[in-house]
Amino acid sequence: MDPSRDLFDVTIIGSGPVGLYGIFYARLRGMKAKILDALPELGGQLVTLYPEKFIFDVAGFPRILARDLAKNLIEQALSLAPTVCLGAKVTMLKTHEEESKRVFELVTDDGLSHFTRSVVLTAGIGAFRPKRLGVPGIVEFEGKGIHYFVNEKKIFCDKDILIVGGGDSAVDWALNLSGTAKQITLIHRRDQFRAHEESVKELMSSPVAVKTFHELKAVSGNSSVQEAVIFDNRTGEEHSLRVDAIILNLGFHADLGPIKQWGLEIDRGGIKVNYRMETSMEGIFAAGDVASHPGKLKLISTGFGEVATAINFAKNLIDPGSKVFPGHSSDSRSLPSPKVGL
Ligand SMILES: Cc1cc2nc3c(=O)[nH]c(=O)nc-3n(C[C@H](O)[C@H](O)[C@H](O)COP(=O)(O)OP(=O)(O)OC[C@H]3O[C@@H](n4cnc5c(N)ncnc54)[C@H](O)[C@@H]3O)c2cc1C
Repeated sequence: MDPSRDLFDVTIIGSGPVGLYGIFYARLRGMKAKILDALPELGGQLVTLYPEKFIFDVAGFPRILARDLAKNLIEQALSLAPTVCLGAKVTMLKTHEEESKRVFELVTDDGLSHFTRSVVLTAGIGAFRPKRLGVPGIVEFEGKGIHYFVNEKKIFCDKDILIVGGGDSAVDWALNLSGTAKQITLIHRRDQFRAHEESVKELMSSPVAVKTFHELKAVSGNSSVQEAVIFDNRTGEEHSLRVDAIILNLGFHADLGPIKQWGLEIDRGGIKVNYRMETSMEGIFAAGDVASHPGKLKLISTGFGEVATAINFAKNLIDPGSKVFPGHSSDSRSLPSPKVGL
């Protein structure tokens, strides 16, 4: 094993609401903590599946939009400066014994290894992958004008953009980029949108050219995408659009995939845990949707409690002199210095 590797006390796999609260909690306990996610953004199901839905059953919030809850959790998580690695899907787990201590090596799909004394799995329903279209030209132009995420708005400045999809992400990005891009066309294969009603109304009165019953047929260009052929799925009539970028917002697939092959005991499709949120492998804990135990409820509120339990027992495992009970956060002496002004 590389002796210069950076060894963490705990590594959390998955940055949904449960992982985000977990990484905050780990830093609160003074642990050297890292969080990994397959997606390029933090927030899990809250931001990928239902950003525009209201949530009514998270303590302390009479009602809150999923994306605002994610924003608050991210602010809280980053306030104690954890290490964050995005676009990093964990594919392999290796264990090493080192001076009678166990070290886990998590290998991500970018070929990097992450070393850690304990692991908390908060992988939810699995690693999200954007749904792709089997349309000629798409694969060839991925990274050359075909996008599944918008990380930087400025790359669309003064560009002609085609957005494909009828959910919250497609509608939100069409609205969000309409002051930045030169021209936006949004196509959707039906005339019913799966997006927030108010956003759809706003879209219809915006400068975005909305074409319902239209689908993408082909994409072409030279070094980057230049043309999209779309068709009306009622008549078959085709149109050609000059485009600089195409954003595909077609939803996500989720798959626990490789995690199920790590030899952890599986129960009712999830990772089996005990009351300490320990899995069948010492040093590996699980919490949130991925964890299975009698009486399991797949809710954000129960996930928060589970991950706090997992982190407190992980702390005690790697530092047996420390207490499982963390004390009260309102006793400021127990807080590591926060980053101010996030
Ligand atoms: C439409 C809808 C509405 C809902 N409404 C409510 C509600 O009102 N109240 C409520 O309490 N709950 C609600 N839920 C359920 C709630 O969203 C989940 O319980 C919650 O998101 C679980 O959080 P999590 O952090 O465990 O997992 P997730 O949110 O699923 O996050 C898991 C993260 O792990 C990452 N990941 C997975 N595998 C890997 C890997 N191998 N490597 C790296 N990263 C990985 C994923 O990319 C993802 O970001 C709703 C769910 C849906 C779909």
